[in-house]
Amino acid sequence: MQQPIPVNTPLLSGNELKYVTECIETGWISSEGPFITKFEEKFSQYIGMQHGIAVSNGSAALDVAVAALQLQKGDEVIMPSFTIISPALSVVRAGGIPILIDSDPVTWNMNVHEIESKITPRTKAILVVHIYGLPVDMQPVLEIAKKHNIIVIEDAAEMHGQTYNGIKCGALGDISIFSFYPNKHITTGEGGMILTNNKEWAERCKKLRNLAFEPGRRFVHNELGWNYRMTNLQAALGLAQLEKIDFHVTKKRQIGETYNTGLKNISNFQLPLTRTSYAENIYWVYGLVADTQQIAEETVRKLNEEKIGTRPFFWCMHEQPVFLNMGLFKNEKYPVAEKLARNGFYLPSGLGLTEQEQQSVITIFTSIV
Ligand SMILES: *Cc1c(COP(=O)(O)O)cnc(C)c1O
Repeated sequence: MQQPIPVNTPLLSGNELKYVTECIETGWISSEGPFITKFEEKFSQYIGMQHGIAVSNGSAALDVAVAALQLQKGDEVIMPSFTIISPALSVVRAGGIPILIDSDPVTWNMNVHEIESKITPRTKAILVVHIYGLPVDMQPVLEIAKKHNIIVIEDAAEMHGQTYNGIKCGALGDISIFSFYPNKHITTGEGGMILTNNKEWAERCKKLRNLAFEPGRRFVHNELGWNYRMTNLQAALGLAQLEKIDFHVTKKRQIGETYNTGLKNISNFQLPLTRTSYAENIYWVYGLVADTQQIAEETVRKLNEEKIGTRPFFWCMHEQPVFLNMGLFKNEKYPVAEKLARNGFYLPSGLGLTEQEQQSVITIFTSIV
């Protein structure tokens, strides 16, 4: 009987143990330890932004980044319907209204040609979410933002090391966030970071992640903050991972290309796009979109039987019960996003996947379909 192949295994093959041991030996395990600023400086430098604010996870990074912009109640933020829920949660919690956009059927990213028609006098920001390995087509986004004087927030949680026309994702907008969950290109177990060149926003983010403590009398607060601090242990992991980031991106590309080659003759499935004019796929996950929902469900069921890990694609924001119950997105339809959500799933594609495991996945997948 074949061993189960998990959908993700992280790769911890560098200085992780050494740096974490240093935390334990020195007793620096909280957010006060020295690895935090080191990781913030090195990561923001790597991406090409001036300020980095490390937090406890990527969703927390979104909460803090959106809160730093000081939305007014009813301010609108344009974003894709097809995404993880985190960006929409942050906007709703900040009192804003997510204004949704359908997806591009080929890149699976937000269809940037729909943005302009959604702009109103209340539009405060465009929140782009780079999906699964290819960046959003940023040039039109940046042009629209400039023309209408709106902020660009980048959710680059799946884009560590990816570039758009040679510029790193996470350095294209006004403020960006990353996640370091174990399935991302580098991990801290749980973790996230906000990046910006805006000093005032960076200061606000630092304050908001730390219970909004004030410089004056400690324990006197003027606004609602969070404890979203990253620990020194997490940052120690992060620093070790960052030393290997280029290798991790190369390895992800290899995994993606091996699947592309191994699966090129299958029918009834759309494979991820290899490249666009502005970027080469980094395959955060290796996703497939079946021609029908039935094919997707049957294939996933058979893969489960063979103990091959899969995950369905994201579920659309306009079909989330939590938002519909709040009166949001009533009768809205985004057909491309709906098809991705229903027919899409991904195969084991973590950095710890061995060549042998991947060959088994290809063999079994091919025989199933
Ligand atoms: C992973 C992810 C997040 C959330 O990050 P967490 O660290 O899991 O909270 C946000 N946005 C996108 C696009 C992601 O892929």
